[in-house]
Amino acid sequence: MDLLQELTETPSVPGREDRIRKVIQKHTKGLFDESHVDVMGSFIGVRKPRPAGKKTTRVMIAAHMDQIGFLVKHIDAKGFLRVNPVGGFDTRNLFARVVNVSTKSGDLPGVMNPAGKPIHIATDDEKKKVPEVSEFSVDLGLTAAQVNRKVRIGDMVTIATQFQRVGDNVVSQCLDNRIGCWAAIRAMQNLKKHDCEIHCVWTVQEEVGLRGAGPAAFDVEPDIAISCDTTLCCDTPGVPEDQHINTMGHGVALKVMDSSMITDIKLLEELEAVARRKKIKHQRSILPRGGQDGGAIQRSRYGVRVGVLACPVRYIHTITEMSALTDIHAYRNLLTAYLEQL
Ligand SMILES: [Zn+2]
Repeated sequence: MDLLQELTETPSVPGREDRIRKVIQKHTKGLFDESHVDVMGSFIGVRKPRPAGKKTTRVMIAAHMDQIGFLVKHIDAKGFLRVNPVGGFDTRNLFARVVNVSTKSGDLPGVMNPAGKPIHIATDDEKKKVPEVSEFSVDLGLTAAQVNRKVRIGDMVTIATQFQRVGDNVVSQCLDNRIGCWAAIRAMQNLKKHDCEIHCVWTVQEEVGLRGAGPAAFDVEPDIAISCDTTLCCDTPGVPEDQHINTMGHGVALKVMDSSMITDIKLLEELEAVARRKKIKHQRSILPRGGQDGGAIQRSRYGVRVGVLACPVRYIHTITEMSALTDIHAYRNLLTAYLEQL
């Protein structure tokens, strides 16, 4: 889990993926026959069939490497920052957070809070209100002059938190989608022989609307694609049972559909058959609202057959996302086994 920890503790929001890309490049060194970074910043590694053989299926693996966060939008007269969201945080999770503001000259710690009065002097109505992201500010504890010297509009802001073990699970921010990034790296490391030609893509800007995956798919021109992402559990108190998307611990999720795409049914059944043959725990899943890179890949060029592997994650889009180690391992095992037999 050291690799997953390193991936989750490397800040990279949409449009600012340089740092996570460097970590992925470091851990995939020597695994590809060729690789390049595309215009938008996605990292594409190509593995020819091993051993070399006839022309075979060209498969695209896509894992988005961005995480939800913010960009600095405004510096006020006192040096407090306002931020613009890049990806969807629930603002109820943003009170009293230590954040990192990543500037040209390094990361600065700060404290994020909504505008308004402390609880001692707030009215009952004020206490109930859920603020918008635009009402939050970041206090760097510096003078306005110091802030203006160090911080620029567009600098990345992420929440500071650590990866940890909780029971037989891991808890961290951005398990969505560093688990997918991790599984793709591990599959490439573990795969020895395969007949397919693998184009492994760590994509950019998924969290702001699947922006990097489409151009990358146009470049790769795959026969089939597997989008590697995470998905919701909702198997926790307060959610009616018929609205549980997945159950944590019940294995890797195979998406039937979400609001960005409907999975190629034959591909879904092939993935299931491999899982059954290899005795890998899996569950089908439908997400009524929310999408992933597969939605953009499916509609590139003349259309692409797309399947989705998703790791079930509780408390998704918070900084305490939780995922079971058994599900994470099932996810990696199914991705590897599927590529092995393709
Ligand atoms: Zn995701």
